[in-house]
Amino acid sequence: MNIISTPTTLQKLQIAGDTTAYEPAGDQPQTELSRKRLLRDLPCVSNVSTPTGPKAIMKTMMTTACERNCHYCPFRAGRGKTQRVTFKPDEMAASFDQLQRAKTVDGIFLSSGIIKGSITTQDKILDTIEIIRHKYQYKGYVHLKIMPGAEYDQLYRAMQLADRVSINLEGPTQDRLTALAPKKDFNGELLQRLAWAHQIRQTGIRASTVTQFVVGAVGDTDVELLSLSERLYHQMGISRAYYSAFNPVIDTPFENLPSTLPVREFRLYQSSFLLRDYGWSVEELPFEQSGNLRLDVDPKRAWAEAHLSHAPIEIMRATREQLMRIPGIGPKAADSILKARRSGHLTDLSHLRALGIRAPEQAAPFILLDGHQPAVQLSLF
Ligand code: SF4
Repeated sequence: MNIISTPTTLQKLQIAGDTTAYEPAGDQPQTELSRKRLLRDLPCVSNVSTPTGPKAIMKTMMTTACERNCHYCPFRAGRGKTQRVTFKPDEMAASFDQLQRAKTVDGIFLSSGIIKGSITTQDKILDTIEIIRHKYQYKGYVHLKIMPGAEYDQLYRAMQLADRVSINLEGPTQDRLTALAPKKDFNGELLQRLAWAHQIRQTGIRASTVTQFVVGAVGDTDVELLSLSERLYHQMGISRAYYSAFNPVIDTPFENLPSTLPVREFRLYQSSFLLRDYGWSVEELPFEQSGNLRLDVDPKRAWAEAHLSHAPIEIMRATREQLMRIPGIGPKAADSILKARRSGHLTDLSHLRALGIRAPEQAAPFILLDGHQPAVQLSLF
């Protein structure tokens, strides 16, 4: 006789396991995606870099079942290989409370497949966090996924309860999104929620917003992804865009598509930071005719080779913006240079190194130090 037993909560968490491996939650997604798991028996515990420092957080889903059919997703409706588990809000909240009190985790990233519609699913996420915040009095880090098509009031409540919310666009246009996820509506279900989140922040609620793109499965180009990212940074106040290189999942419609090279994801992050933190505009990024960035060189260096090789920047006179155009010099290094040159001349690469610039040789071909091109000592080996 076969006895079918109901899995315990711990077993369900183990089955749910790697469920959010496809969704970064923190500030350093590439380390996170290395699947750096902390506890073998609890794969839902991940090391994540948050705005308040690195933390071990519980990263899981309310349910691994879903009624939608996104072509890239292991949880899509009808995929036989996915083990489906569903948590009730009080069960999920109690599991988190146990792990948090045992000091196994300090923070939660909560996502979900969609069952009985987005609004019902979003309510389950909100109910869980209400219990965590009010019954268990947890004051720490909470990152919530917003379902496509969630209501304004649900988003508002999520942003009152959470430190960060994710509204994932997946593709840079409606056509790309339809190719990835036929049932998702780019403007109506997703972009509108990012605009609402921006409005809600104007009322004084501080939760940040992030979004994610699946890169490289359906012909999306870097110029499409970065043009939209720029708009989201400047017009909708998102704190970051995640770019997840596509990897095929067996038993999905995309199982035979090639993986996207991780270096493409890396170049997108480098460019995205130039747009967000360095004052660049998307038109200045060195795209090739294909609409993609070169993979063999970082975008800042490619720009410098084209623009600064014959017009090096004088370190003693450059503005902060000009300094940040130089490879190897970011916002902190630019500020250190501005401060140091008030009290003396910077005439040698060793002076830049003393300011904390780790590899001033990167900058050397593109700068003048007090009127002279700096000498670079060649390595003998
Ligand atoms: S809605 Fe989310 S969980 Fe469901 S198939 Fe699409 S990406 Fe996967």
